[in-house]
Amino acid sequence: MPKHRARFLATLMASLLVAWTAVACSTTSPDDGDKPVVLTTFTVLADIAANVAGDRLQVESITKPGAEIHGYEPTPADIRRAAQASLIVDNGLNLEAWFAQFMDDLDVPHVVVSDGITPIDITSDAYAGKPNPHAWMSPLNVGIYADNLAEAFAELDPDGADGYRANAAAYKNELAAVQKDLVSSLDALPANERALVTCEGAFSYLARDAGLTERYIWPINAEQQATPQQVAAAIDFVRDNRVPAVFCESTVPDKPMQQVVSATDARFGGTLYVDSLSEADGPVPTYLDLIRHDVDTIVAGLTGTSPAS
Ligand SMILES: [Zn+2]
Repeated sequence: MPKHRARFLATLMASLLVAWTAVACSTTSPDDGDKPVVLTTFTVLADIAANVAGDRLQVESITKPGAEIHGYEPTPADIRRAAQASLIVDNGLNLEAWFAQFMDDLDVPHVVVSDGITPIDITSDAYAGKPNPHAWMSPLNVGIYADNLAEAFAELDPDGADGYRANAAAYKNELAAVQKDLVSSLDALPANERALVTCEGAFSYLARDAGLTERYIWPINAEQQATPQQVAAAIDFVRDNRVPAVFCESTVPDKPMQQVVSATDARFGGTLYVDSLSEADGPVPTYLDLIRHDVDTIVAGLTGTSPAS
């Protein structure tokens, strides 16, 4: 082969290699580098997972801040995104009604973060006897979530195992501090103000930890919610117990609770966060903010110490 021809071929091969590398790299966006992607079903789990992941994994949420999580309908883009992920994180306990079907089409490992918690059963309506899925509303349960995440991440990325376990341990210290504040803040409420009335029955775990009586208009967000009977029952409870304030959650309309306010002497105590974080510049950009915000709102609402937020 003539020398100039060999040189031409070598140059051609080199340019092809450069072109191929460019194509291969363009499938990863510039800011996530080569980190494995961990995809959670909702924003609360994404924040908890990011605390355990540190900077070794790219943690993202399928649903956006403010999204309704129970009856979410995944889009084709969600499925494409999930197919590229290294690990998918769901809450379990039937929170994500859409999840089993979503995973049917995917060959990606997933971890159920609520594994090992002691569930509280729902006591009313069609869901009676089923576990209440909102286990993260007890920071002590989130300690179990953090351990489950650390083990799943260790399996995904064994080199980072010690780091994930250390991150989980540090986060559990923060959870314990928030739990202590939660109990002492709500413990200060007088006996006649120890009722927590909300739209969805999402506060069973928090109410148990804080020794509050929980009442709600409907047990779980679903298509059939806030029936006239459910609203009437909430009105009776608030009247009979002279409940001073009632609350509703950020991901559902508060109109049914405003009907309770109109029909009773209770005031509207404010918006609570359960099924979603706020945007980064909102009141609850992290899970720990969510718990602090809810406790502050409940105490202020029930004691009438500050205007409704
Ligand atoms: Zn919910």
